[in-house]
Parts: sequence; structure tokens; C-alpha cells
Amino acid sequence: MQQQARHFIDGQWCDDSQWADSLDPANGERVGRFADGGEAQARAAVEAAARAFENPQWSQNPRLRQQLMLDWAAALKSRQEELASLLTRENGKALAQSRGEIGGAISEILYYAGLARHNPGHVLEVAPGEFSTMLREPAGVAGLIIPWNAPAVLLVRALAPALAAGCTCVVKPAPQTALFNAAFLAPLLDLPDLAPGVVNLFAETGHAGAAYLVATPKVDVLSFTGSTATGTRIMQDAAPTMKKLSLELGGKSCCLVLEDADVAAVAPKLAAAATIISGQQCTAARRVLVHASRAVEMKQALAAALAEIRLGHGLEAATQMGPLIDERSRDQVEQRIREAQDSCDEVLLAGGRPSGALKRGAFLAPTLIAHQDSGAFFCQEEIFGPLLVLETFEDEAEAVRRANHTEFGLSASVWTRDGARALRLARALRNGTVWINDHNKLFAEAETGGYRRSGLGRLHGYDALLDFTELKHVYQNVGSL
Ligand code: NAD
Repeated sequence: MQQQARHFIDGQWCDDSQWADSLDPANGERVGRFADGGEAQARAAVEAAARAFENPQWSQNPRLRQQLMLDWAAALKSRQEELASLLTRENGKALAQSRGEIGGAISEILYYAGLARHNPGHVLEVAPGEFSTMLREPAGVAGLIIPWNAPAVLLVRALAPALAAGCTCVVKPAPQTALFNAAFLAPLLDLPDLAPGVVNLFAETGHAGAAYLVATPKVDVLSFTGSTATGTRIMQDAAPTMKKLSLELGGKSCCLVLEDADVAAVAPKLAAAATIISGQQCTAARRVLVHASRAVEMKQALAAALAEIRLGHGLEAATQMGPLIDERSRDQVEQRIREAQDSCDEVLLAGGRPSGALKRGAFLAPTLIAHQDSGAFFCQEEIFGPLLVLETFEDEAEAVRRANHTEFGLSASVWTRDGARALRLARALRNGTVWINDHNKLFAEAETGGYRRSGLGRLHGYDALLDFTELKHVYQNVGSL
């Protein structure tokens, strides 16, 4: 079935649109078409959101906000399978992963629906009869720039706390998943009790609309999930407006495997962590740091586990890994992996493009290389695809030194049977998330974000609300009896 997605501005699906095609990255077939907007749509959406924010029936009405999110979640539940299939066709990920993502996104909407009714400030009596009331107020208009790699969860983890806080919103999805994002938002946008302008949606193939959201003083908080390069640009462009920024950026996750780990059991888990969404997840495993005494074993086990991963169209039941998001991205990643293979110490598994029927899609099989110099570009740069680098260390101090040798600080994992050691290492790693004997475990309830150049602020969890609120001090001297 061909899909179509329009802009939704000020309570209306808009008809006066130019169109762009959305393609299935597994075979190049057209999935449908989406309205291709720009600055004009961004401007109209921001105006509508600013008007809607002035109405206290939205910004001061947590029960309504909760009810709308509950209704949205219920409507999504009845369309779960159809949405999972669309997500797989547009993004390429395996259907089981799409189902899991949509289930997780619905659960996260329910979580923030609850939090809509629990956004407390606090009151202090600073001197007899003198009260300082600290109110948590919605920040205003929120601009949300959403990426294509997990367009359900990454939309919800920004939009749901923004709505829970009482903001009004303008959503700008990535062009690669514009159809999915429109289909996922439609059951919310079509709710009769959602006032015009509270949630607006526009898509574009260019960046003019997104750049407008960043630069206009009418957007009070800008939430961006994407690369560190674009995040840096956004920070610069937003500076004159002093708007609040929530930036969820790139990563280069290290997995520390200690000498007591069960290498045969750990290797397949690392292979899965490296190839999740074809290596296009910000927290995907990128560098495996293994104790030197277990290196030979790990090289063999990891190469075997990666070689076994079945590539295919995400809708086929046997598929474990789909294509990259598009040919352009595949070509860039392939080029970087080739350069890495040319300059590394050892190539353990050369992936590359598969042959046969998969040649029509943006596929790239996983590559595993070994290298000792952690300064190499492929140990430092985020290469957004299925490349894994193996390094060795002699002791805990070296493991931590290597893992912290990065400009990023998003996530890492520690693999050992020694509980105290695991926690000691987790404490020493400069990352927003550290998993012990696991990787890529993310929850609606648990804040996620980056140290250093991996970003600013936290999404998921209670703290995400803070990104979409201001704290107001109201002082009053009522005297004392
Ligand atoms: P990207 O940086 O290429 O972002 C593309 C988006 O940025 C598009 O929507 C585009 O319209 C917008 N954009 C481009 N130029 C802009 C400008 N000047 N002003 C405003 N917006 C502009 O990233 P991507 O390829 O879409 O996503 C992959 C990246 O996202 C990876 O680096 C990955 O690590 C990161 N990511 C991070 C997290 C996290 O939680 N930290 C989660 C998912 C993805």
C-alpha cells in the first residue's frame, strides 16, 4: 500500500504541498510520498504553537494533557502491527525490532501521561511569613527535530515530556522516516480535544525549516537528536536567542571485557549490540576492549558471531539485520570502513556489500578489525554503521584510559563476573550510561544523555521534564500572626 503524509499545522492537515518520495532502503521501491516543506511551514507552525501556548486550558491543564496522551496510546495499540510494518519498510530495521520499538514508545507515552500530573515545584518559608513558591512552568514552544534511526521512541521521548510539561510543539521528522512519523502522530493529531496549534508537524528534504526552529526567538526550547556536528551548529545558531537546548548527539561506545568474562557467551551479545539497526544506533557497540589474555578467543568468537548475522529485508522472518538507511549513507560508511581496513593492524572479518538479491538495497555486512592505537580515526570517529574495532588492555587502569580516550561520552558496558569490579569501572567511565553485563538497555523511566560532546540534558525519565520547563520564583510576604 502506498502511503502519503501531509503537514499538520494549526489543527489542519495541509493540502498545498510539494511532494518528495520515500524509498524502501532494502530494495529502492517507493513506499509513498510526503509533503516537502521548508521555512514557510516552520514559520506557520511556530506561530500556531505560540498562539496555542497562550491558552491556559492547555498549559495549565495537566489532566487534559494526560487524557490526550492516554487516548493517543490506546489508538496506537490498535494500529501497532500496521505501524511496525511501515517502520520496517521506511527505515529497514527487522520487523521484530520495529515491533519492540513501537511497544516501547507506547509504554513511554503512558509513563509521561502519568508524569503530566506530577510536576511539583516547592515552597519555602524563608523568614516568618515570607514565602518563596517555586513553580515548575512549561517552557513555551518546543521545536523537536527527530532522527530516522528510531523514529517512534526518539519522537516520544522528546514530545511526551514536552506535552506532559505543558509546552506546545512543532515536530520536524527526518525525511527518511517522514511517512512513519506522520502515521504515528496521526492518532494524536486527530483527537477532537487537541486544540489547534498544540502539536504541529512539518517535513522537509532540506534544512531551512529546521534552521528556522533553531534561530527564531519564538521557539523557547529546542530538542535535537542527531550528530555532534549538527548539534554544534545548532548550539551556535541558537545562541543569540538564548533558548533552552536539549541535544542528544553522537557516541562511540566501548565494551570492556575483563579476563574473568565468559567470552563464548559474551561475543554474540556484543555482535548484536554492534549491529542493532545495522549499527545505526547512537549507543551501538563500536569498540571492544578485551583483556590481552582473552584476545585470541574473543577475536574468533566475535568474528564468528558477526559472520552469522542474517541480512535481509526487514519484513522477512529470518532477517536479523536490515539495510542502512539509504544509499548515500551506505556509500559514506563503506568508504570509511574501507579506509579503516587499509590502515588497521588486522582485519578479522571483511563485510562489504552482499551479492545476489540484496544488491538492490543499501546493505553492508559487518566488519571486525583489531587495532592497538586508540588514536586512530576509526577508534575516535563515529562511523554510523556495522564496524566493530577490537583493542586489548593489560589492566583495569589501561582499560579505563582507553575507554575514556574519546570526545564522546554517551554509553559503555562492562563485562565481568566480579560485581565490585564492575561497579568500580562503571564509576570510572565518563559516560551518561554504563551497562553491566549487557548493552543497549534503554527504558522510559531511565534518563539517557551524554557527557562531553555527546550532548546536553537528559531525555527519558523524570529529568526529561526539566528540559521542557522553567522554574519560577513567586515571593510573597503574608506577615505572621
Ligand atoms: P544529522 O546530524 O545528520 O541530523 C539530521 C537532521 O538535522 C535533519 O533532520 C536535518 O533537518 C537537521 N539539520 C541539519 N542541518 C541543520 C541545521 N543547520 N539546523 C537545524 N537542523 C539541521 O544526524 P542523523 O544522520 O539524522 O542521525 C544520526 C546521528 O544521530 C548519529 O550521530 C547518532 O549518534 C545520533 N543519535 C543520537 C542519539 C542520542 O540519544 N544521543 C540517538 C539517535 C541518534
